[in-house]
Amino acid sequence: MKLMISSKALYSTWMYYSPDRMLIDCGEGASTYLGNKAFAVKRVFITHGHADHIAGLWGLVNTRNNAMGDKEKALEIYYPKGGKSVEEFLDFILKVNSDLKYNLTIRALEEGEEVILHRTGSAQRVIRPFRTHHTLSEVSFGYNIYEKRKKLKDEYKGLPQRDIMELVRKVGRETITKEYEQKILTVSGDAIPINVENAFESDLLVHESTFLDERDRKGNNHSSVKEVLELAKKANVKSLILYHISTRYERKVKRLVNKSIEEMEIDIPVMYVHPSRIFTLN
Ligand SMILES: [Zn+2]
Ligand SMILES: [Zn+2]
Repeated sequence: MKLMISSKALYSTWMYYSPDRMLIDCGEGASTYLGNKAFAVKRVFITHGHADHIAGLWGLVNTRNNAMGDKEKALEIYYPKGGKSVEEFLDFILKVNSDLKYNLTIRALEEGEEVILHRTGSAQRVIRPFRTHHTLSEVSFGYNIYEKRKKLKDEYKGLPQRDIMELVRKVGRETITKEYEQKILTVSGDAIPINVENAFESDLLVHESTFLDERDRKGNNHSSVKEVLELAKKANVKSLILYHISTRYERKVKRLVNKSIEEMEIDIPVMYVHPSRIFTLN
Protein backbone atom coordinates (compact mmCIF):
# COMPACT_ATOMS: atom_id res chain seq x y z
CA MET A 1 0.00 0.00 0.00
CA LYS A 2 1.50 3.28 -1.15
CA LEU A 3 -1.36 5.62 -0.48
CA MET A 4 -4.27 5.38 1.92
CA ILE A 5 -6.90 8.12 1.83
CA SER A 6 -9.99 8.80 3.86
CA SER A 7 -11.92 11.85 2.76
CA LYS A 8 -15.44 13.02 3.32
CA ALA A 9 -15.98 16.73 2.66
CA LEU A 10 -16.95 18.66 5.79
CA TYR A 11 -16.26 15.67 8.12
CA SER A 12 -12.70 14.42 7.84
CA THR A 13 -9.79 14.20 5.42
CA TRP A 14 -6.37 12.57 5.80
CA MET A 15 -3.98 10.64 3.61
CA TYR A 16 -1.07 8.40 4.47
CA TYR A 17 1.82 8.17 2.04
CA SER A 18 3.77 5.10 3.09
CA PRO A 19 7.08 5.50 1.13
CA ASP A 20 7.90 8.48 3.33
CA ARG A 21 5.70 7.53 6.27
CA MET A 22 3.89 10.82 6.22
CA LEU A 23 0.40 12.15 6.55
CA ILE A 24 -1.03 14.98 4.55
CA ASP A 25 -3.74 16.38 6.79
CA CYS A 26 -5.02 14.65 9.86
CA GLY A 27 -8.80 14.79 10.09
CA GLU A 28 -10.82 13.09 12.78
CA GLY A 29 -10.34 9.33 12.93
CA ALA A 30 -6.86 9.23 11.37
CA SER A 31 -5.15 7.46 14.26
CA THR A 32 -8.24 5.30 14.94
CA TYR A 33 -7.99 3.91 11.47
CA LEU A 34 -4.20 3.82 11.19
CA GLY A 35 -3.86 1.85 14.43
CA ASN A 36 -0.28 0.56 14.61
CA LYS A 37 0.65 2.56 11.53
CA ALA A 38 0.18 5.70 13.63
CA PHE A 39 3.54 4.85 15.20
CA ALA A 40 5.15 4.70 11.78
CA VAL A 41 4.19 8.28 10.94
CA LYS A 42 7.28 10.50 10.88
CA ARG A 43 5.82 13.69 9.52
CA VAL A 44 2.47 15.39 9.14
CA PHE A 45 1.89 18.16 6.61
CA ILE A 46 -1.22 20.25 7.16
CA THR A 47 -2.87 21.99 4.20
CA HIS A 48 -4.98 24.44 6.24
CA GLY A 49 -6.61 24.87 9.63
CA HIS A 50 -10.18 23.74 9.06
CA ALA A 51 -11.41 21.22 11.62
CA ASP A 52 -12.03 18.46 9.08
CA HIS A 53 -8.27 18.50 8.27
CA ILE A 54 -6.73 18.89 11.72
CA ALA A 55 -9.13 17.44 14.31
CA GLY A 56 -7.25 14.12 14.35
CA LEU A 57 -3.95 15.68 15.47
CA TRP A 58 -4.83 15.43 19.15
CA GLY A 59 -5.65 11.75 18.76
CA LEU A 60 -2.45 11.07 16.83
CA VAL A 61 -0.19 12.86 19.31
CA ASN A 62 -1.94 11.24 22.25
CA THR A 63 -2.21 7.69 20.90
CA ARG A 64 1.52 7.61 20.21
CA ASN A 65 2.15 8.67 23.77
CA ASN A 66 -0.06 6.17 25.51
CA ALA A 67 -0.68 3.10 23.38
CA MET A 68 1.60 0.10 23.05
CA GLY A 69 4.25 0.63 20.41
CA ASP A 70 7.43 2.55 19.85
CA LYS A 71 6.93 5.62 22.00
CA GLU A 72 10.37 7.03 21.31
CA LYS A 73 9.82 7.83 17.67
CA ALA A 74 9.93 11.53 16.93
CA LEU A 75 7.10 13.26 15.13
CA GLU A 76 7.23 16.41 13.02
CA ILE A 77 4.22 18.55 12.22
CA TYR A 78 4.35 21.17 9.48
CA TYR A 79 1.67 23.71 8.70
CA PRO A 80 1.26 26.88 6.60
CA LYS A 81 2.84 29.90 8.25
CA GLY A 82 0.12 32.22 9.50
CA GLY A 83 -2.33 29.35 10.02
CA LYS A 84 -3.89 30.70 13.22
CA SER A 85 -6.27 27.84 14.06
CA VAL A 86 -3.56 25.21 13.51
CA GLU A 87 -1.33 27.14 15.92
CA GLU A 88 -4.06 27.49 18.55
CA PHE A 89 -4.92 23.82 18.32
CA LEU A 90 -1.28 22.68 18.54
CA ASP A 91 -0.79 24.97 21.56
CA PHE A 92 -3.70 23.27 23.25
CA ILE A 93 -2.43 19.78 22.35
CA LEU A 94 0.99 20.61 23.84
CA LYS A 95 -0.63 21.99 26.97
CA VAL A 96 -2.67 18.90 27.69
CA ASN A 97 0.16 16.53 26.72
CA SER A 98 2.96 18.07 28.74
CA ASP A 99 4.58 14.68 29.43
CA LEU A 100 5.29 13.62 25.85
CA LYS A 101 7.66 10.68 25.69
CA TYR A 102 8.92 11.50 22.22
CA ASN A 103 10.21 14.57 20.41
CA LEU A 104 7.46 16.57 18.79
CA THR A 105 8.68 19.22 16.38
CA ILE A 106 6.25 21.81 15.10
CA ARG A 107 7.22 24.06 12.24
CA ALA A 108 5.47 26.72 10.19
CA LEU A 109 6.36 26.45 6.53
CA GLU A 110 6.67 29.25 4.02
CA GLU A 111 5.47 28.82 0.48
CA GLY A 112 8.15 26.96 -1.51
CA GLU A 113 10.14 25.94 1.58
CA GLU A 114 11.62 22.49 1.06
CA VAL A 115 11.64 19.60 3.51
CA ILE A 116 13.85 16.62 2.68
CA LEU A 117 11.93 13.36 2.98
CA HIS A 118 14.44 10.81 1.82
CA ARG A 119 17.99 10.61 0.59
CA THR A 120 19.92 7.68 -0.87
CA GLY A 121 23.13 8.37 -2.77
CA SER A 122 22.39 11.10 -5.27
CA ALA A 123 18.63 10.42 -5.26
CA GLN A 124 16.55 12.67 -3.10
CA ARG A 125 12.86 13.09 -2.37
CA VAL A 126 11.60 16.42 -1.11
CA ILE A 127 8.27 18.09 -0.40
CA ARG A 128 7.44 21.72 -1.16
CA PRO A 129 4.24 23.60 -0.37
CA PHE A 130 2.54 25.93 -2.82
CA ARG A 131 -0.20 28.49 -2.20
CA THR A 132 -3.80 27.61 -2.98
CA HIS A 133 -7.03 29.58 -2.88
CA HIS A 134 -9.59 28.32 -0.43
CA THR A 135 -11.13 30.69 2.14
CA LEU A 136 -10.08 34.23 2.95
CA SER A 137 -9.74 33.59 6.67
CA GLU A 138 -7.41 30.60 6.45
CA VAL A 139 -4.04 30.43 4.66
CA SER A 140 -3.96 27.23 2.59
CA PHE A 141 -1.26 25.12 0.95
CA GLY A 142 -1.08 22.29 -1.51
CA TYR A 143 2.00 20.04 -1.52
CA ASN A 144 4.29 18.65 -4.20
CA ILE A 145 6.60 15.71 -3.64
CA TYR A 146 9.55 15.80 -6.00
CA GLU A 147 12.16 13.24 -6.76
CA LYS A 148 15.48 14.77 -7.68
CA ARG A 149 16.99 12.57 -10.34
CA LYS A 150 19.96 12.67 -12.68
CA LYS A 151 19.98 12.10 -16.38
CA LEU A 152 22.51 12.32 -19.18
CA LYS A 153 22.97 15.75 -20.68
CA ASP A 154 21.44 15.99 -24.16
CA GLU A 155 24.81 15.92 -25.96
CA TYR A 156 25.61 12.47 -24.51
CA LYS A 157 22.24 10.90 -25.24
CA GLY A 158 22.30 7.90 -27.58
CA LEU A 159 25.96 7.04 -26.92
CA PRO A 160 26.74 3.34 -26.45
CA GLN A 161 26.95 2.24 -22.82
CA ARG A 162 30.67 1.49 -23.23
CA ASP A 163 31.46 5.09 -24.25
CA ILE A 164 29.43 6.45 -21.37
CA MET A 165 31.33 4.31 -18.88
CA GLU A 166 34.55 5.56 -20.42
CA LEU A 167 33.42 9.17 -20.00
CA VAL A 168 32.43 8.55 -16.39
CA ARG A 169 35.97 7.31 -15.77
CA LYS A 170 37.59 10.20 -17.61
CA VAL A 171 35.54 13.26 -16.66
CA GLY A 172 33.29 11.98 -13.87
CA ARG A 173 29.58 11.35 -13.65
CA GLU A 174 28.87 14.92 -12.53
CA THR A 175 30.14 16.40 -15.79
CA ILE A 176 27.97 14.40 -18.14
CA THR A 177 24.72 14.36 -16.15
CA LYS A 178 22.26 17.02 -15.11
CA GLU A 179 19.80 17.07 -12.26
CA TYR A 180 16.08 17.32 -12.85
CA GLU A 181 13.01 17.16 -10.67
CA GLN A 182 10.09 14.84 -11.27
CA LYS A 183 6.82 15.59 -9.50
CA ILE A 184 5.67 12.25 -8.19
CA LEU A 185 2.73 13.41 -6.10
CA THR A 186 0.69 16.62 -6.09
CA VAL A 187 -1.97 17.20 -3.43
CA SER A 188 -4.35 20.16 -3.60
CA GLY A 189 -5.89 20.28 -0.14
CA ASP A 190 -9.16 22.24 -0.11
CA ALA A 191 -9.09 24.76 -2.92
CA ILE A 192 -10.43 26.04 -6.16
CA PRO A 193 -8.44 24.37 -8.97
CA ILE A 194 -4.73 24.80 -8.31
CA ASN A 195 -2.48 26.51 -10.87
CA VAL A 196 -1.57 24.39 -13.88
CA GLU A 197 2.15 24.88 -13.24
CA ASN A 198 1.85 23.38 -9.74
CA ALA A 199 0.46 20.15 -11.14
CA PHE A 200 2.38 20.18 -14.42
CA GLU A 201 3.42 16.69 -15.55
CA SER A 202 2.88 15.22 -12.12
CA ASP A 203 2.84 11.42 -11.91
CA LEU A 204 -0.21 11.61 -9.66
CA LEU A 205 -2.50 14.51 -8.90
CA VAL A 206 -4.78 14.17 -5.87
CA HIS A 207 -7.24 17.03 -6.16
CA GLU A 208 -10.27 17.97 -4.17
CA SER A 209 -13.56 17.66 -6.03
CA THR A 210 -16.19 18.66 -3.51
CA PHE A 211 -18.85 19.13 -6.16
CA LEU A 212 -19.64 16.42 -8.67
CA ASP A 213 -22.32 18.64 -10.14
CA GLU A 214 -21.20 22.22 -10.75
CA ARG A 215 -24.77 23.49 -10.29
CA ASP A 216 -24.41 22.71 -6.58
CA ARG A 217 -21.45 24.96 -6.10
CA LYS A 218 -21.99 28.11 -4.07
CA GLY A 219 -19.18 30.50 -3.34
CA ASN A 220 -15.68 30.08 -4.62
CA ASN A 221 -13.83 27.91 -2.11
CA HIS A 222 -13.95 24.44 -3.62
CA SER A 223 -13.63 22.70 -6.99
CA SER A 224 -16.07 20.86 -9.21
CA VAL A 225 -15.16 17.62 -10.95
CA LYS A 226 -15.20 19.20 -14.41
CA GLU A 227 -12.79 21.92 -13.36
CA VAL A 228 -10.42 19.31 -11.99
CA LEU A 229 -10.60 17.18 -15.13
CA GLU A 230 -9.88 20.28 -17.19
CA LEU A 231 -6.87 21.05 -15.00
CA ALA A 232 -5.58 17.46 -15.23
CA LYS A 233 -5.75 17.70 -19.01
CA LYS A 234 -3.97 21.07 -19.21
CA ALA A 235 -1.32 20.00 -16.71
CA ASN A 236 -0.74 16.74 -18.56
CA VAL A 237 -0.72 14.68 -15.35
CA LYS A 238 -0.27 10.91 -15.64
CA SER A 239 -3.07 9.96 -13.27
CA LEU A 240 -5.69 11.60 -11.10
CA ILE A 241 -7.45 10.90 -7.81
CA LEU A 242 -10.52 12.93 -6.86
CA TYR A 243 -11.09 13.38 -3.14
CA HIS A 244 -12.96 15.56 -0.63
CA ILE A 245 -16.23 14.60 -2.32
CA SER A 246 -19.46 15.80 -0.71
CA THR A 247 -21.67 13.16 0.92
CA ARG A 248 -24.66 14.48 -1.06
CA TYR A 249 -23.37 12.33 -3.94
CA GLU A 250 -22.87 9.24 -1.79
CA ARG A 251 -25.00 6.96 -3.95
CA LYS A 252 -24.05 8.32 -7.33
CA VAL A 253 -20.34 9.06 -7.16
CA LYS A 254 -19.36 6.54 -9.80
CA ARG A 255 -22.08 7.58 -12.23
CA LEU A 256 -21.37 11.30 -11.91
CA VAL A 257 -17.60 10.91 -12.20
CA ASN A 258 -17.92 8.67 -15.25
CA LYS A 259 -20.38 11.05 -16.88
CA SER A 260 -17.94 13.94 -16.53
CA ILE A 261 -15.01 11.84 -17.79
CA GLU A 262 -17.02 10.98 -20.87
CA GLU A 263 -18.21 14.51 -21.52
CA MET A 264 -14.72 15.93 -21.09
CA GLU A 265 -13.14 13.16 -23.20
CA ILE A 266 -10.52 12.35 -20.58
CA ASP A 267 -8.16 9.49 -21.37
CA ILE A 268 -5.91 9.42 -18.30
CA PRO A 269 -6.69 7.04 -15.42
CA VAL A 270 -9.09 8.73 -12.98
CA MET A 271 -9.76 7.29 -9.52
CA TYR A 272 -11.86 8.68 -6.72
CA VAL A 273 -12.12 8.48 -2.96
CA HIS A 274 -15.68 7.51 -2.10
CA PRO A 275 -16.81 9.64 0.88
CA SER A 276 -17.68 6.62 2.97
CA ARG A 277 -14.82 4.27 2.09
CA ILE A 278 -11.11 4.07 2.71
CA PHE A 279 -9.17 4.32 -0.54
CA THR A 280 -5.89 2.50 -1.06
CA LEU A 281 -3.42 2.53 -3.94
CA ASN A 282 -0.54 0.09 -4.30
ZN1 LIG B 1 -12.20 20.22 3.99
ZN1 LIG C 1 -11.35 23.71 4.22
